[in-house]
Amino acid sequence: MCKSRCVSQIESRATPPTSEEVVQLQAVTLFPKEMTPMDRADIDKLRELPIEGVAERLGLNVKRHHCLCPFHGDRTPSLSFSVKRNTYRCWSCSARGDPIDLVRNYLNKSFVEACQWLADENAIIISEYKPEKTMTQPTKFHADFYSFLIGNLPLGSLAQDFLFNDRKYNHDVVSRLDIKSVECSGRRLLDFLRQRFTEEQLQEYGIVSGQADRKHCFFWSPCLLIPYFSVDGSLEGIQSRYLGTRMRFNTAEAQAKHDAIAAKAPRFQFSPGSHPMIFNLPVLKDLKPDEELWITEGVSDCIGVMSSGRKAIAIPSATLLTSKNKVLLASAPTRNWHIAPDQDQAGETLFQAIEATANETGAKLTRHQLPEGCKDFSEYWKRR
Ligand SMILES: [Zn+2]
Repeated sequence: MCKSRCVSQIESRATPPTSEEVVQLQAVTLFPKEMTPMDRADIDKLRELPIEGVAERLGLNVKRHHCLCPFHGDRTPSLSFSVKRNTYRCWSCSARGDPIDLVRNYLNKSFVEACQWLADENAIIISEYKPEKTMTQPTKFHADFYSFLIGNLPLGSLAQDFLFNDRKYNHDVVSRLDIKSVECSGRRLLDFLRQRFTEEQLQEYGIVSGQADRKHCFFWSPCLLIPYFSVDGSLEGIQSRYLGTRMRFNTAEAQAKHDAIAAKAPRFQFSPGSHPMIFNLPVLKDLKPDEELWITEGVSDCIGVMSSGRKAIAIPSATLLTSKNKVLLASAPTRNWHIAPDQDQAGETLFQAIEATANETGAKLTRHQLPEGCKDFSEYWKRR
């Protein structure tokens, strides 16, 4: 009788029992102290209990399908769960198995005892287990939202110090490019946005990322937000530039704590849904035939070249000269192209790609050599 109730309880997991029912079920489905024979179907059902739910019931802290391995002295989560196969595996000590194995090994029980434990716990496991939702990155760039964001952000003091004192960029150039900064915490930025947008919208726009209980802003802050516009001036993407490495704290302890986090931050991020594109495309519109067009690698060099009074566009990086970008380059009204390649392999790769495009489209490409010791134009401009 116990056995059949146990099975029916497992079968009822499509509709999780209420907490009251769980207590009742627990009371009636406990196996008697002596061993109860189980048939294969029962055991198979126990094997189908969600592995991560079983791990959580055992007290393991599962995050992103991983946890600290309880079978060896683990410091970084090396035990991973396969939701598809319903198994676990440790990449350090090679512990592996199904839900029954996990209970056996973790609680040091026999096979039958482990099955009993799972049968007793299964209602709780089923009702408490919430599969982690993996947020998918949007494939579409939400221009209206990001226009609102750019329109409502200032150019803060950290950004001004970086752009004008450190990089020596021209004020008019920076203001024309509509560069802004986030200098509050990501959490505060999200709180501000939540006054106007729903949680679902913010997720759809990709500005919120992370798991349900640990949501955070997509962009690492503090950062610059650099808008990318089409030739016609419509917003096509945002690139962030992390500024956290420039923050200074009063105590060595606070500084060390911050630096450890800052070291993990990506220097550049592209807004969700935006695709590799050319920076400062609107300049193509007012270029006269035969007027100089400078082609740079990355936004920093581009703003440096623009600050020197030249007209420039930027390819985000040497590896991002897509066929779409080549078409855009070829559509430039001028055939008078200039480049001062970065003094490294990536710079050389970009030069060759631009040179090939110039040859195909009949443009004249002039190569400029940066002074000794300047790795890129931005550095040359800063030092001059
Ligand atoms: Zn292990």
